[in-house]
Amino acid sequence: MLNTATQMLTIRRVPTVVSNYQEDVSEDPQFQSDSGTLGCGRNCLSKCCLPVSKLPLYAFKKDEDNAIYKHNGSSPGEARPVAEVRPIGLLNNLLLGQWEERMARGLFRYDVTACETKIIPGNYGFIAQLNEGRHLKKRPTEFRVDQVLQPFDENKFNFTKVGQEEVLFRFEQSNDSKSHFFTSSSVNLDSNSPNVVAINVSPIEYGHVLLIPRVLDCLPQRIDHESFLLALHMAKETSEPFFRIGYNSLGAFATINHLHFQAYYLSVSFPVEKAPTQRIMIGKELSDSGVKVSQLLNYPVRGLVFEGGTNLRNLSNAVANACICLQKKNIPFNVLIADCGKRIFLFPQCYAGKQALGEVSEELMETQVNPAVWEISGHMVLKRRKDYDDASVENAWRLLAEVSLSEERFQEVKTLVLEAAELQEAGPEEKSMNEEESLQKPRAPYVASQLSQDCLVLQ
Ligand SMILES: [Zn+2]
Repeated sequence: MLNTATQMLTIRRVPTVVSNYQEDVSEDPQFQSDSGTLGCGRNCLSKCCLPVSKLPLYAFKKDEDNAIYKHNGSSPGEARPVAEVRPIGLLNNLLLGQWEERMARGLFRYDVTACETKIIPGNYGFIAQLNEGRHLKKRPTEFRVDQVLQPFDENKFNFTKVGQEEVLFRFEQSNDSKSHFFTSSSVNLDSNSPNVVAINVSPIEYGHVLLIPRVLDCLPQRIDHESFLLALHMAKETSEPFFRIGYNSLGAFATINHLHFQAYYLSVSFPVEKAPTQRIMIGKELSDSGVKVSQLLNYPVRGLVFEGGTNLRNLSNAVANACICLQKKNIPFNVLIADCGKRIFLFPQCYAGKQALGEVSEELMETQVNPAVWEISGHMVLKRRKDYDDASVENAWRLLAEVSLSEERFQEVKTLVLEAAELQEAGPEEKSMNEEESLQKPRAPYVASQLSQDCLVLQ
């Protein structure tokens, strides 16, 4: 059952499917559409069907400072927006209304509202959910866990293969300073590669959705500045602190190598949101951007907390730079976007690597819990009745402690990550002025060699 270090390391069980099309990847929807008909006939999210489709469109208000999005909003000839400005709750109502409609149509694999959930007594209030329906028994997908960056593979399941009935709406930047909602908008009028919000057919909470940036660009699962900012915009636009957005890198329990974020509503605080933090000394450039970085204290998974920022983009860039750094160093990680995009938790992790090397206890392995962003944040999704009945702070802590980097390794990674965030903010002149800081920069080859200590899985 356990892989050895000499084999190609893969997760043998993919625990869930996020789309009803995931178990059916044999058909190839990428053929040309017949002239005179729209799309391939499957009403999919690929180039055949999506550009000639109409979907609801939520256009969030433009950044004040600048706009990196090329999206132009809807053209004047298009349907008039049903709603202008941003009434509190419009995006939530849209998302939940559409989500419930899909539930009524029976698109989900099970009824998440029937899953038992309880708060485990204790200061942090870990949340345990019994979710026996999530486990996927057939058709496991082989997936490497030892590479955070992997090229997009069009032959594997990806979101272009999803049917449009799983899509709730498009989420694009408006061309003015207001948010708009269009009940139906032609995709090809204003977008070459739309951002879509789709249901996760294996939900773990109410309103569980996927945000898929620029779906037609077929981006692999990796953070880039533009996509991360899009996720922050979504968190901000909901104005709902109970709506969190999560991200799992490859090697940290992402199961699909097509760029996506997950999100859902949970009407209590996540334990990690209650954990004490300590401000970390940060460099001049980063503090100029207004971004503040803290370290989690007294939490089983070591992590960083990003807050502040003179604008959303500064905060977004700091986190994205950190993620990009981790990606380059092949360090798997998870991200939780909380508090309407104002607080972002970053967890470098090493569970899958340990798992593949046979370093995780049999007891933990048997639970088949994959500690992705939700579990790390304290929402324990359990697959066995026994584990649910026995759920305790100690058990949650024991699992999550295995996910965390060691203190020594975390300090190394922290240095890397903070350097990455600072460097991006610094202008060329300032960089040369800060020689003392640059002398402290770890050299890449040295750092890479350290990975084998506890996280990199060697082949
Ligand atoms: Zn199609």
